[in-house]
Amino acid sequence: ALPSRLAGIVQAHAAATPGAPALRDPHAGSVDYASLWQAVQDCAAQLRALGVRPGDRVMVVGENCANLVALLFAAGLADAWIVNVNARLSGPEVDALRSHSGARIVLYTANVSPQAQAHGERHGAPAMAGPFGPWLAGALNDDCVPEPVHADGAAQPAALVYTTGTTGQPKGVMLSHRGLLYVAAVSSRLRGLVPHDRAYGALPTSHVYGLASVMLGTLYAGACLVLAPRFTAEGLLQALREERLTILQGVPAMFARLLELAGDAPSLPNDLRFAYAGGSPLTPSLKAAAERLLGVALHNGYGMTESGPTISQTDLAAPRADTSVGYPIPGVALRIVDGAGTDVAPGQPGVLWVRSPGLMLGYYRDPAQTAAALRPGGWLDTGDMGRQDADGALFIVGRTKELIIRSGFNVYPLEVETVLNAHPAVAQSAVVGRACADGNEEVIAYVEPDARAARAGLAALLAAHAAAALAPYKRPGRIVVLEALPAAATGKILKGRLQEMAARLGPVPAGD
Ligand code: ATP
Ligand code: MG
Repeated sequence: ALPSRLAGIVQAHAAATPGAPALRDPHAGSVDYASLWQAVQDCAAQLRALGVRPGDRVMVVGENCANLVALLFAAGLADAWIVNVNARLSGPEVDALRSHSGARIVLYTANVSPQAQAHGERHGAPAMAGPFGPWLAGALNDDCVPEPVHADGAAQPAALVYTTGTTGQPKGVMLSHRGLLYVAAVSSRLRGLVPHDRAYGALPTSHVYGLASVMLGTLYAGACLVLAPRFTAEGLLQALREERLTILQGVPAMFARLLELAGDAPSLPNDLRFAYAGGSPLTPSLKAAAERLLGVALHNGYGMTESGPTISQTDLAAPRADTSVGYPIPGVALRIVDGAGTDVAPGQPGVLWVRSPGLMLGYYRDPAQTAAALRPGGWLDTGDMGRQDADGALFIVGRTKELIIRSGFNVYPLEVETVLNAHPAVAQSAVVGRACADGNEEVIAYVEPDARAARAGLAALLAAHAAAALAPYKRPGRIVVLEALPAAATGKILKGRLQEMAARLGPVPAGD
């Protein structure tokens, strides 16, 4: 049986295996389950003493560390909601989320993060002792109104998680204790985690992937989470060697960075027994190269903040050669529908609707977007398009919002990106549409070159590469080379920013 609150995971392991390592933190060192449970309780008491009431939102501006983990569990223990935002957001971005969430108090993980320190200082937050080192705590917000507390504690929102903001403004997703625990338990089991595993914890807990799949999934199994305040390829390499990681979950951009650093190394000695990419599309070339380097299959899975997050993943026992995102996990029902909400014919692409015990309670303070996403019958409209093969394996083809209509044809940006990414000079790419005066849409590609690639003549080279692989209407009208694509803290490309940039581009040169 699952506990009724997130903190129940830590409590259960503290009782059963108190001395087993729960966390490795570059500053706090090894933390066993008994110490983590003590820290969670102390931290909950500290929150109450500071003036946090049941139904309040507790915001933490941070980067991954033992203090942050303790706080995430402690907020729920105090019947408050956690609002974890990344310290790498700008001041105005943090302030916008603070005011949207109506947070009662803001804490900053200053001991591991100069950015968190700077945010705290901007608000004059004094330092105080946290369980694993000092943090900064801001003044109480007296305008915060506590939300009603459910009689059923498991139905209570545990976290208000903001979406990545790939397509626009981040949305505040309310996830319950029960929903998060369900998905964490199922995905932990499907990924085969056991107590002696050491899993890499560099994905920020400010996003649902780092929070639920990585942090909760690892601790649910009673395994050890090896924390890193932020991802670097050098840090990962060191953790593979020194922490002897057995589980590596990341986004495709993390694997791309590792490959760049490894250069032409044929393989990397390691103890991994499971590697997994999710959160954005995995391309065949990246998957194959990462598998060669790491010597294990790179599994793939699909999810979103609104579904807490996992919807599907590949079968541990049957690694795939293609980039299918696998099969719906137990408890998840999937429909593929057309614009009118009618099921499409088998094998056809359509919009993905899912039902799951992990679905969000809604978007906080946004009934209009909630009504657009949560449909009658308990279905969530994911806004993604996909198709299933004859065996039921799911393939993501793109987002409905990103679909480009060109000369009456559908252009899926993912298809064009996959072609561009296959070129050795490309580290990553993003394709967006741009409205033209004639009502048509133009295909614009943004490319981040591989660190070793020559910049001169690159756009022309890639245009020829795209022309050889794509029908004329799919070919980018313009290829723009940027030193780095705008990305979220998780490494996901912020396409909304690129759409804005594309709209500001001059007219596409004649002849393209
Ligand atoms: P926003 O909703 O604010 O625009 P976002 O959708 O990127 O941002 P998340 O909830 O973090 O925010 O990401 C979920 C989305 O990521 C999914 O809806 C899907 O489009 C994409 N995604 C997740 N996993 C995969 C995958 N394995 N392959 C392709 N796309 C994926
Ligand atoms: Mg989304």
